[in-house]
Amino acid sequence: MKPPQTSPHWTIDTTLVHGGTLRSQFGETSEAIFTNSGFVYDSAEQAEARFKDEEEGFIYSRFSNPTVAMFEQRMAALEGAEAARATASGMGAVHAALISQVTSGDHVVAGRALFGSCRWIVEQLMPRYGVATTLVDGTNMDEWKAAIRPETKVLFLESPTNPALSLIDIEAVAAVAKEAGACLVVDNVFATPLGQKPLELGADVVVYSATKHIDGQGRCLGGIILASNAFIEEYVHDFLRHTGPAMSPFNAWVMLKGLETLTLRVPHQCATAATVADALVERDKITRVIYPGRDDHPEAAIARKQMSLGGTLVGFEVDGGKAGAFRFSNALQLVRISNNLGDSRSLLTHPATTTHHKLHEREKDKLGITPGFVRLSVGLESAADIIADIDRALAAV
Ligand SMILES: *Cc1c(COP(=O)(O)O)cnc(C)c1O
Repeated sequence: MKPPQTSPHWTIDTTLVHGGTLRSQFGETSEAIFTNSGFVYDSAEQAEARFKDEEEGFIYSRFSNPTVAMFEQRMAALEGAEAARATASGMGAVHAALISQVTSGDHVVAGRALFGSCRWIVEQLMPRYGVATTLVDGTNMDEWKAAIRPETKVLFLESPTNPALSLIDIEAVAAVAKEAGACLVVDNVFATPLGQKPLELGADVVVYSATKHIDGQGRCLGGIILASNAFIEEYVHDFLRHTGPAMSPFNAWVMLKGLETLTLRVPHQCATAATVADALVERDKITRVIYPGRDDHPEAAIARKQMSLGGTLVGFEVDGGKAGAFRFSNALQLVRISNNLGDSRSLLTHPATTTHHKLHEREKDKLGITPGFVRLSVGLESAADIIADIDRALAAV
């Protein structure tokens, strides 16, 4: 195998096609899928050298695999990170990035508005192992500062948040983390790797559900952790090897294909989302529209500072509460009802009764998850067709 092909001089479009490519002796053009679990050695000495880290090479696909390694290298080049480790799902990445670096007695602070499973890890799982956690309103810097304790080890946030799309000032939270000697982990799924660069804003670790825009076509689960070599070596490397949430080589290959078209798909979907958001504001039966790319977003100044794309998600409130939102959802013909996002198909979800149904009403209110609120993930269809579908459905409300 030739060493991975990557150049720091390439533009992002080129990196996403060629970055990290490992070509075998057969000279395949597209990346090969290595579906083998193990690897053979030329000699007992070579096996010994591999295990002692004296010789580079693969040992076992739970540790690393050529197709998965290509995906990791390409993602590291895209994110501008020193190192990357892929996982079987986005939650595998979030779990490993957080749990691998804490021990009982440590303290974690997280923005309250989190993807449901992320919130479960922080609120339910960590305290079971003696890791204290505090949830704060991520948009309120005073709450972040007030939550810091001497034993605070990790700060965790997502921005834009799910599902209400509020924005957290990553640079400001990174400054709080630095002063506390804590590690800032950012779940960058909603912003996408093209729309926001947490490492440049001072974050220490970035995690993605690759299931979303990186695959981008609703086919495979996957996740990835991006950080410094030191962080990956100290915390993530052994944790992943010995607990086993490895990405399958087939999924890594699908993700590699997804990355090849990322710069064609995601900015296009963001532009469509902006057009849809602008149209929604004009509709009488829609009482509130939230889109990070619009000037009327409550944290528009933060969007201008840290996001180069408005994202593919639009939140809005349909008149008539839950009944109105359900009638609207059921009358859609092109946009499908699904809790997934970052797909080529436009998908709509009603967070209050699906992804966030377990939260107390009081918590839903705090997060802006009102009975009429829906979240639209804008796909690759034309803005005109999506807007026509929305108008048809609004007529049913
Ligand atoms: C989907 C998602 C996850 C979890 O990813 P999976 O691939 O479904 O495990 C985590 N965080 C955010 C923000 C997500 O949208």
